[in-house]
Amino acid sequence: MCRHLAWLGEPRSVASLVLDPPYGLLVQSYSPRRQKHGLMNADGWGVGFFDDDGVARRWRSAAPLWGDASFASVAPVLRSGCVVAAVRSASVGMPIEASASAPFSDGRWLLSHNGLVDRAVLPASSAAESTNDSALLAALICSRGLDALADTIIEVAAADPNARLNILAGNGSQLLATTWGDTLFVLRGDDGVVVASEPFDDDNRWVEVPDRHLVTATDCGVELTALKGSA
Ligand code: GLN
Repeated sequence: MCRHLAWLGEPRSVASLVLDPPYGLLVQSYSPRRQKHGLMNADGWGVGFFDDDGVARRWRSAAPLWGDASFASVAPVLRSGCVVAAVRSASVGMPIEASASAPFSDGRWLLSHNGLVDRAVLPASSAAESTNDSALLAALICSRGLDALADTIIEVAAADPNARLNILAGNGSQLLATTWGDTLFVLRGDDGVVVASEPFDDDNRWVEVPDRHLVTATDCGVELTALKGSA
């Protein structure tokens, strides 16, 4: 499906997270190393970050990341202490448009979904940015509140036992992530933490998050909690 990545820590450039790493989202857009579903992520991309005033800013596209010379030119000077980015492999039948690319946002959170869920189990929402499953799921999660993320995931998984529900969200001071059916790794560095679908380099500090867990990252550290689903 898709690959996503988030950063929380000292301000750093979007390029250093997304474009420069040897196996970053740019390379993952055409040659992911750990993706279980789909071969490449050419159906769009999105980068969101919080600016110095705490305002969520986004740049999204329905085209492959590797072809965007304008983004490559500007990304080195976009700097933030909280970034959420994704490259997309659209599921069958889903629209390919910029508004279907993560990160989605309610203005407070930037949120990405890596996976697939039956749209029939998700409520229709006028807040959804597109009609793809990820946009509907993002709208549901935001409407319930991110404090209830674990409960919302467990509820959606019970309604669609085949769903894959890896979520990655940031609000400027906190990252939240879930593993439910796909890969996720955490890299704790000296100046911040990276949470990503797959390692963007061969640093031996990357730690894989077990399936069905909630990850909470703040400047105090990273916590993992098991998600107790009925499925
Ligand atoms: N189901 C998603 C979509 O089509 C697939 C991409 C992803 O993993 N978020 O929007």
